[in-house]
Amino acid sequence: MSKKRRTDPNADRPLHPGPRPPREERVFYVAVEGASTEPDYLSYLNDEFGRDLRFRIHPLWRSKGLKPREVVEAVLAQRSQDEGDEKDEFWALFDRDEHVGIPQAIAKAKKNDVRIGFSHPSFDLWLLLHLAAFSGAQGGSSVIVHEKLRKHPAFETFEPNGDKSIRNERVEALKGKENVAAKRARKLTNDCPNPACNENDGHADHCDPLCRDPSTDMWELLVALKIIER
Ligand SMILES: [Zn+2]
Repeated sequence: MSKKRRTDPNADRPLHPGPRPPREERVFYVAVEGASTEPDYLSYLNDEFGRDLRFRIHPLWRSKGLKPREVVEAVLAQRSQDEGDEKDEFWALFDRDEHVGIPQAIAKAKKNDVRIGFSHPSFDLWLLLHLAAFSGAQGGSSVIVHEKLRKHPAFETFEPNGDKSIRNERVEALKGKENVAAKRARKLTNDCPNPACNENDGHADHCDPLCRDPSTDMWELLVALKIIER
């Protein structure tokens, strides 16, 4: 077809692409608390895996950050105006930190079929698990997580109130370690004080997320994206 069009002397108009083909990429709206680390990390996932695995993550965040309840509200607001595919996925990522309102945020997400990526004490634990194993209750503080993270050259200058970006050498340090990080995250389930929880079955439905210290569900997002297998 294209050969014929090109040799046609009258075909001097630009070729139009015609109607858009049906969207083939899977769309994930992911609302996050932080304004730097998490959006950067999600951009990395888009850049590294999005094309091959045919997904696109749209991070939802605010420059001043969001509280857990606001993270859930942000993704629900997006969904209420979403005219996309019914297969679009909606996720809320938030941390234990010092925040109150975690149970309410979790309840609201569950009630509205929003998937949750909860980290205790913080998302930064997920980054650390790419580089090292970790254990021991943290009581909502990320001080030790950050200390351990800074032991790795790429994260030497990673500061809670400073440069928390995930770019360049930090991205390189994480690359290819998704499965290792997920394995470590799942192993932490064995430490849950609730005896019903373990790495094979995950946390039991009745397990209070505030007791999952430390823990991170971030690997479940990577399973949904098909970056790793369950
Ligand atoms: Zn548990």
